[in-house]
Amino acid sequence: MRRIDKILNGIPKEQPLKENEYINKTDGFIYCSKCNTPKQMKIEILSKQLTVPVMCRCRSIEYKKEQEESKKRECMEYIARLRSSGLHDKALRDYTFENDKGYNPEMEKAHKYVEQWDKMKAMSTGLLLWGGTGTGKTFFAGCVANALIDTGVPVLMTNFARILNSLTNMFSEDRNGFIDSLNKYELLIIDDLGMERQSEFALEQVYNVIDSRYRSKRPLIVTTNLTLDELKNPADISRKRIYDRVLERCVPLKINNRNIRTMNAAMNFSAAKELLVGGDEQ
Ligand SMILES: [Zn+2]
Repeated sequence: MRRIDKILNGIPKEQPLKENEYINKTDGFIYCSKCNTPKQMKIEILSKQLTVPVMCRCRSIEYKKEQEESKKRECMEYIARLRSSGLHDKALRDYTFENDKGYNPEMEKAHKYVEQWDKMKAMSTGLLLWGGTGTGKTFFAGCVANALIDTGVPVLMTNFARILNSLTNMFSEDRNGFIDSLNKYELLIIDDLGMERQSEFALEQVYNVIDSRYRSKRPLIVTTNLTLDELKNPADISRKRIYDRVLERCVPLKINNRNIRTMNAAMNFSAAKELLVGGDEQ
């Protein structure tokens, strides 16, 4: 027997009726009694008429819904994986626009960067967030990271202390592979440039990472406590070649000088005071 005949003969010609099914007398097909649409149709294969099962209308709607739900679930799982792969420091996962208390007017630019992401990516444009400690640079960058991850963009947020730690424990021949692997992320965020160890080895590796990112033409966001002037006029050539690359691709953005950490502490303190005083008054 030919293989196709075997397959055709394998299709059951008559099936016992299940619950919510009936035979329509006009065409002889099995119908769904819930939506009154056929669960069978005729097709012709190699001049043989065959009755094959199809989805009735209600099953087809149900099926579509199931598919959408499973797609949504897969998407959420993918985003959760992106977040755990890109934000190793769990504290960063709380740096979100939803948690922004609105102290820092510069945050508007973080929203803009996320909104304009496709253009920023196409233009290989990143940000250089500079300003004193406690002004909210890391929060700014963390919010951008989380918002982009939410839309399915792979982002890695790390710092040179962490990168140098990995590179130090590696054979020199594995280092390039590791540095290249940072570029699989569409956005790389490096927190606290200039705070890493200042050895020759460290500066060489920092340059390699920045240069590799530069050549990958993918955006980079850097935060630093250094001033723009210090970045433009570093003391030595090994820093100059690092900062020049950063300045070429990252738009400098001064994060305002209001000390958010102190403000937060003050807010918490006044909230606590209010609670205590409030308790006294009652
Ligand atoms: Zn139905």
